[in-house]
Amino acid sequence: MHIPSLLIVDDDFQIIELLQVAAERMGYKVYATYTASGFKELYPTVTPHLIFIDLKLGDHNGIELLEFLILEKCSTPIILMSGQDEKVLHIAKHLGDTRGLSISGILHKPFNLKDFVELIEKAKKDSRFPDTESIKNAVEQNEMFVAYQPKISIQSGKFIGVETLLRWTPFNKDFISPSIFIPIAEEEGFIKELTFFMLDNAFKDYALWRQEEMYSLAINISLPVLNDSLFLEQLHEKIKAYKISPNEICLEITESYGITEDSISKLSILTKLRIQGFKIALDDFGTGYSSLLTLHRVPFTEIKIDKSFILDLFSNSESLVITKAIINLSHALGLKVVAEGIESFEVYKKLKELGCDEGQGYYFSNALSVEDLQDWINTHLDKNQKFKFGS
Ligand code: C2E
Ligand code: MG
Ligand code: MG
Repeated sequence: MHIPSLLIVDDDFQIIELLQVAAERMGYKVYATYTASGFKELYPTVTPHLIFIDLKLGDHNGIELLEFLILEKCSTPIILMSGQDEKVLHIAKHLGDTRGLSISGILHKPFNLKDFVELIEKAKKDSRFPDTESIKNAVEQNEMFVAYQPKISIQSGKFIGVETLLRWTPFNKDFISPSIFIPIAEEEGFIKELTFFMLDNAFKDYALWRQEEMYSLAINISLPVLNDSLFLEQLHEKIKAYKISPNEICLEITESYGITEDSISKLSILTKLRIQGFKIALDDFGTGYSSLLTLHRVPFTEIKIDKSFILDLFSNSESLVITKAIINLSHALGLKVVAEGIESFEVYKKLKELGCDEGQGYYFSNALSVEDLQDWINTHLDKNQKFKFGS
């Protein structure tokens, strides 16, 4: 029988003992350690199904362990435990969420066993990771489709186009987020097929909703796809077949890959794409380590501020400072700035005041099927294609 395992690191002996007894009762094999170094030794040997990390570990802190798990490309659900240090907790959660870790929950100390059991139940659900076979089947069985999130010019309020986002709703099951299945497709060598599946559908749909107008289609492209020597040619053939011009397309490359000046300079394909007229955006800006030099040397045309800054624009003063700085820096470098994660009119207004160029977010619309996009265009835009605020 397959016994799930759980790895705990905490420097408090009593907490370990308590969690160990409770988890064993729930059918887990428990591995526990009191130190960061013990954790690093144990982790590769036990391949846990669930991890508990105390953020305050004597001389070390849990952030160091999260960084270790990022390098290890850990996909195991993680539960963070913390005493009163909210600041560390916030940084840790942000780091985990933006760098591909699955932070499944937070256990505030002191806690009771009921909280602990509930978190384990939730983590069990989160850990249902699909394999490549099921991703391939999903494409064949029509369980995947492309959804479109409208983008608005912040200064004029005009609808300018959409970002295409893959959606997977398995038959009779919960929706699976692209943040889960895209990294698996990338690792397993299926991302190019998935990208062309998305492009074919997005281009076909574009003919339906564009109605003779020219809009911008923002498309997420993974680094392994860009590295494929045939990609450029194949993309060209595709857009020619659908009569789309390169300047209608913006290729978004996410910063969380750790794009550095060095890694990206190898991507001469970006320069070629740019020369041919495609626009290129650096997605999720602020989550990686891009230097100012990278921004300058790589032919990006726009920068997308990561939604984590926009979501707490008013609740975290650092987010506001960072957002302002990104807008000013990008403009100084001649780059357009796009904000994602606009959930309220107040945030929209603030971004307008800060000079942000474009935006998207639940305030305007979430990602829609092509039919719903057509409805949205008809009901939420005026005759000049401007978003009807308050609609
Ligand atoms: P992304 O490119 O940064 O896309 C923006 C994400 O923010 C989307 O999540 C979108 O649904 C979400 N979002 C938009 N507005 C709001 C808002 O107001 N509030 C909040 N809380 N969230 C908002 P989604 O669809 O889950 O996609 C996650 C990531 O998966 C995307 O992040 C993108 O990196 C990747 N992805 C999606 N489709 C594809 C694809 O076809 N190819 C590749 N390579 N990656 C894809
Ligand atoms: Mg994107
Ligand atoms: Mg993004």
